[in-house]
Amino acid sequence: MIEQPAMVKICDIREESPLVKTLFFESSMNFIPGQFIMVWIPMVDEKPFTVSSIQKNLLGISVLKKGTFTDLLHQKRIGDTIGIRGPYGNGFHLQPELHSCVVGGGIGIASLATVIDTLPKITIIQGTRTASEIIYRKRFTDMRFCTEDGSLGFRGTTVDLLEDIVKKQQFQKVYTCGPEKMMFKIVELCKKHHIACEVSLDRYIKCGFGICGQCDCSGQRTCVEGPVFTIPELNTMEDFGRVALLKTGERVDVNNHRQLSYISIDNAK
Ligand SMILES: Cc1cc2nc3c(=O)[nH]c(=O)nc-3n(C[C@H](O)[C@H](O)[C@H](O)COP(=O)(O)OP(=O)(O)OC[C@H]3O[C@@H](n4cnc5c(N)ncnc54)[C@H](O)[C@@H]3O)c2cc1C
Repeated sequence: MIEQPAMVKICDIREESPLVKTLFFESSMNFIPGQFIMVWIPMVDEKPFTVSSIQKNLLGISVLKKGTFTDLLHQKRIGDTIGIRGPYGNGFHLQPELHSCVVGGGIGIASLATVIDTLPKITIIQGTRTASEIIYRKRFTDMRFCTEDGSLGFRGTTVDLLEDIVKKQQFQKVYTCGPEKMMFKIVELCKKHHIACEVSLDRYIKCGFGICGQCDCSGQRTCVEGPVFTIPELNTMEDFGRVALLKTGERVDVNNHRQLSYISIDNAK
């Protein structure tokens, strides 16, 4: 549904890590895990964020400070207002009956937080560069951690840790969100082990409802047909893990362009 942003008042703020804050606000929006909303700061810009927390009418977005917009969100105080519209996109196809694993790289874990809240039988992997970037430690007490510098949990990437875990534990499904390079490797691993997998793709989103084409990935609009894609869908999307569009429309290597650090905590080498 195309709509005007609704102005909502920030009623609580939680510091999740030095660079991540969760901003809470009241909204009656019906949000499916994996969808996203457009957040508006008047006179500045409008950007996509997932809803990372749902408690009745209290929603939260977890924001990693990266550039101008997210810095301004970090400067917001309780009582300040932001605009929101949505939700947009398809969301994950949740299968509570399956034994599943959730793999979050960097702030990608925010997109998976409501999946974790919903599914009963779940193994949770969170990967970051270093221990101080880990979030939701009190919220999800049974997480498996991996850090690139070995400062917490398994030393290595989420891909390495998942590979290690699937040797001992059988999963029927993996839900993942993080840097595209990481998700590409997770998908390859799932194909090898015949595990179903859904990824939440991060592409540069402008309108959020499918008219501008900015978030195209091989003819799929991330904001409408995605952001969640299954392995059979990804198999038809040649650009997945290879090519992305800059905000200018220029096609560039998704793994090697300085303007493309969609989720900057890059646990994907
Ligand atoms: C479906 C979706 C859900 C997201 N959910 C979250 C979330 O829950 N928490 C979170 O912290 N971040 C999330 N992001 C990323 C977030 O939108 C960007 O970090 C934010 O827009 C950066 O803006 P900036 O001005 O601070 O940084 P900039 O300096 O403008 O950009 C920093 C990086 O963010 C990327 N980015 C900038 N604008 C956009 C945009 N319009 N769409 C996508 N990427 C952009 C750029 O490619 C760049 O690599 C999500 C992105 C998508 C596509």
